[in-house]
Amino acid sequence: MALRPDFRHDPELMTPADPRENASDVARHLQQNGHVAYFAGGCVRDRLLGLEPLDYDIATDATPDRVKALFPHSMSVGESFGVMLVRRGGHTLEVATFRSDGRYVDGRHPESVRFGTEVEDAARRDFTINAMFEDPLSGRVIDHFNGRSDLESRILRAVGVPSERLTEDRLRVLRAIRFAARFTLEIEAATASALQADPALRGVSRERVGGELRRMLAHPTRTRAVELLESFSLDSPVLGPSGDPGAPRPALAGLSPVMRDPIDGLAAWLLDRAAPPGRAMIRQLREGLLLSNKEERRLDAILSLVHRVEDDWDQAEIAVRKRLAAREEFPTVLELIEARNVETGVRIRTDFTALESSGLAPTPLLSGEDLIAAGLVPGPLFKEILDRTYDAQLEGILGTPEEALAHGLKISNTAQGDR
Ligand code: ATP
Ligand code: MG
Repeated sequence: MALRPDFRHDPELMTPADPRENASDVARHLQQNGHVAYFAGGCVRDRLLGLEPLDYDIATDATPDRVKALFPHSMSVGESFGVMLVRRGGHTLEVATFRSDGRYVDGRHPESVRFGTEVEDAARRDFTINAMFEDPLSGRVIDHFNGRSDLESRILRAVGVPSERLTEDRLRVLRAIRFAARFTLEIEAATASALQADPALRGVSRERVGGELRRMLAHPTRTRAVELLESFSLDSPVLGPSGDPGAPRPALAGLSPVMRDPIDGLAAWLLDRAAPPGRAMIRQLREGLLLSNKEERRLDAILSLVHRVEDDWDQAEIAVRKRLAAREEFPTVLELIEARNVETGVRIRTDFTALESSGLAPTPLLSGEDLIAAGLVPGPLFKEILDRTYDAQLEGILGTPEEALAHGLKISNTAQGDR
């Protein structure tokens, strides 16, 4: 009677409703084939905090070969690390074989990994709150390092000997700060002194530093992250000369606490530091954090617009204000100005609202084609005619295409007359 193929027996093809169910199905398939399979790390922590995990990672005693056999379409990522990517229901899950990391030679990569026990796998993880497993089918939490009580007491504690764990891989220093800020955790004393021991981020690639920093600055808790970075002198390896950890942070604190482009947070941080950031600083950041062209342009635009709008807004013509206000960075710029100086900010926001109601960037009433149709020959004068006519439109002087064309032709005639 079954006319449609029954996919229920092929877990690679089923498409369950949500990511958690999806991940549970993968774990169930491993368990049904005689393996131990748990949710691991961040997703366990997030569920205990009542947060929706970003992704689910699975830890298992099945070797990569076994995972491959059970999920024929899975792909290996760095086989030596024992991590397989299992694609399922539109999601990609990491299924990692329990392992134990060997000695770290360069503060970055373990010299070797070998498959190990569940406890060893928990022991190689960075912080107790990230070292828990969960049996997805029963919901039981497997907690070898008391992560749950640390989480409940809001404590960030390295697994094992903090000084060793934080020197092995200096990225953990930045992760510590990111988690402490994001989940409002106190950094436990021995873990804190291990952070303090060496503010350099030796051996950590710029990609990884940039990645951590972006995540801290994108998050609503960015101000706390910056405070922690500065209090552990970790700002200098990133931003150059150290800031004053006690200095006020109006711009950072004034950004609305929602997820946003990390570049907005970076701009706020730079504005709050004593030295005004110039092009050289932006170039240094581009190098140090591997900013993309787009990120560099946004950072540069926000920083220069904040100063330009603060200095020039009051004297600017309506057309100039509208051109400034139509910039895609303007909402952030205005928020930053309000944070730096309430009075100036409120005044500009009032103007901005009024300007918005008459259109910040209306479709131009006059185009190059219109000028050609009117018999003008394209040339260097075109841009000037179009710009000046558009300014007049923004000022509210021109209301129709006919008026705009007449205005443009007048500019053209005057210019010809001048020659
Ligand atoms: P997020 O929500 O930011 O993804 P996460 O804890 O899931 O947080 P991931 O980078 O996705 O972080 O890593 C998954 C798990 O792998 C962590 O919970 C932790 O157990 C372990 N882990 C990741 N990076 C390290 C590291 N540098 N050192 C030790 N363990 C790590
Ligand atoms: Mg994660």
